[in-house]
Amino acid sequence: MRIFISGPSGVGKSTIIRRILADNPNLVLSISYTTRKPRPAEEHGRDYFFITQSEFEAMIDRQEFLEWAEVHSNYYGTSLSWVEQKEAQGMDVLFDIDVQGVAQARGISSPGAYVMIVPPDMETLRQRLDKRATEDEASLNIRLDNARRELSRWQMYDYLVINDNLDEAVSHLQSVIKVQHNTTQEMIGDLAWLKTIE
Ligand code: ADP
Ligand code: 5GP
Repeated sequence: MRIFISGPSGVGKSTIIRRILADNPNLVLSISYTTRKPRPAEEHGRDYFFITQSEFEAMIDRQEFLEWAEVHSNYYGTSLSWVEQKEAQGMDVLFDIDVQGVAQARGISSPGAYVMIVPPDMETLRQRLDKRATEDEASLNIRLDNARRELSRWQMYDYLVINDNLDEAVSHLQSVIKVQHNTTQEMIGDLAWLKTIE
């Protein structure tokens, strides 16, 4: 089963995802490929697969991505074979991808739940970005402009999870995962007899 998560930078995606992964041993976070340089605490193969632009372009040519996009001047993409390998092992896969990636996954009708994490309001988002303090004023404003653009695509999603109180947001996402396990698409694989009924 696939759970696609997106939402503007600073809304709390990583925080929520960390909690959800800790509570769901059967769930793995898809490790994307990126041309972005690693941040100090990041590790190749754990946070991302860090590759060069020409390696990334070769992967596009070989059609190895389920989806890919340019975000904040770097390329990011999801390897289809990586995801299929995890699914073959019976794992559920969580994706942290931007709105362009969601549009592509939707475009190829990739099954799954599409979830946008939204802030309670724009001022709260600004404060969270500020608090994280990895941004200077100029890049903070770029991220806020991007945030508005991303939030304007809310119609693309099945679920909107508001990250005001963290515990509540985690619990709502947990409900989405539970419900998604019971969709016809997920259930029918275990119900061979049902398909034979005419
Ligand atoms: P993202 O992964 O979406 O960029 P982060 O998970 O890094 O966002 O969160 C951005 C900042 O907001 C962090 O400092 C985080 O601790 C804080 N944060 C996340 N969720 C909440 C919340 N519900 N209430 C208050 N602060 C939060
Ligand atoms: P960061 O550089 O902060 O790790 O991520 C920046 C943005 O890239 C985030 O919004 C994240 O959701 C997005 N992102 C990360 N991996 C992928 C991916 O594989 N595909 C797409 N489309 N976006 C991604």
